[in-house]
Amino acid sequence: MTQITLENLGKNFGSFTALAGMNLTIADGEFVALLGPSGCGKSTTMNMVAGMLQPSTGSISFDGRDMGNVPMARRGVGFVFQNYAIFTHMTVRENLAYGPKAQGMGSAEVTKRVEEIASLLQLGSMLDRRSGGLSVNILQRLAIGRSAIVEPAIFLLDEPLSNVDAAFRAVMRTELKQLQRQFKQTMVYVTHDQLEAMTMADRIAVMDHGKLLQVGTPLEVYNNPADTFVARFIGSPGMNLIDGEISKSDKTTMVDLKQFGSFGPVPDAVLGKLKSSDGKVIFGFRPEMVELDSNGSLKMPVNFVERIGARTLLHLGDPDDSIKITVSNHEPVPKQGEVAQFTIPPQAARYFDPQTGNVLRGEA
Ligand code: ATP
Repeated sequence: MTQITLENLGKNFGSFTALAGMNLTIADGEFVALLGPSGCGKSTTMNMVAGMLQPSTGSISFDGRDMGNVPMARRGVGFVFQNYAIFTHMTVRENLAYGPKAQGMGSAEVTKRVEEIASLLQLGSMLDRRSGGLSVNILQRLAIGRSAIVEPAIFLLDEPLSNVDAAFRAVMRTELKQLQRQFKQTMVYVTHDQLEAMTMADRIAVMDHGKLLQVGTPLEVYNNPADTFVARFIGSPGMNLIDGEISKSDKTTMVDLKQFGSFGPVPDAVLGKLKSSDGKVIFGFRPEMVELDSNGSLKMPVNFVERIGARTLLHLGDPDDSIKITVSNHEPVPKQGEVAQFTIPPQAARYFDPQTGNVLRGEA
């Protein structure tokens, strides 16, 4: 249970900058996900927090204490990697008991903890099985148990679920969250899977190309992405982004979306933030925010209809760069080749600067 503070943290490998100017405070007991595509610097950040890698710039402190000269073994950090690290010649029980025993814990306490963690991670029925013969799913669960059992103040998990199958991943998301609730550790979780971050984290730190782009609760980053990268990366499918141009008339100001129609009025707050004089903006909206409406000001041809259960996902416009909308199956759904006409509520519209990609307005 420790607060982690990263100040201007950076890492260079030769002339390559893997991480630059990262500022982030992770509160005591908070679950923060570092989320971003492969190569954005997530693992580099984690390895520096763990003490496996020296920062090139900036500092890391735990509860205000600088970690610069503190070796990994003395940081009170538990680490779980993508590839489980367990002793295959030992039983599940022996693997779980290994850490507490190495710390000199009494055998009654070790037994109690092993049973507690085994029950939490549903390993109770296999405590006396040799680990060597267990499935990848169970081995990763065991690896998590082995790190969690010593109750580290900080628990770092680097893509722990990327090798397990999809059904098991969904189960593990819940178990990990329960584990953290029970032990109240500060948890940092690296993932490239936005769904994992959205479902588990208290806050998500979205990264790209060695930079921290936005930090917020799952709903904050979902509803109010700071830029076009976050808008696209969060959500499945991500936010739709269309090139537009501000068009003013005597009565109102709209965003002209060419063949797709127009939308407006554009709020004054957006117009006030518009820096470029050419009036170009990127217009954004989430796929699920549309309402099919024969009087709607937006329309696009349907090029693909994807049934996804309770709702239908329509791919609209250019097949190579399509706009996606989800609609209810309770109303007639336009077919392939037909035109979908729709509207979105004004509060669901987002506007971004085409040059910087930064949001021009954010709504709660
Ligand atoms: P992934 O999930 O693919 O590991 P990541 O976001 O965790 O992605 P990092 O592993 O932190 O990314 O790597 C960030 C960048 O730094 C990548 O371009 C990677 O190739 C580079 N990098 C990482 N470690 C080294 C190293 N030891 N030497 C040189 N470059 C490195």
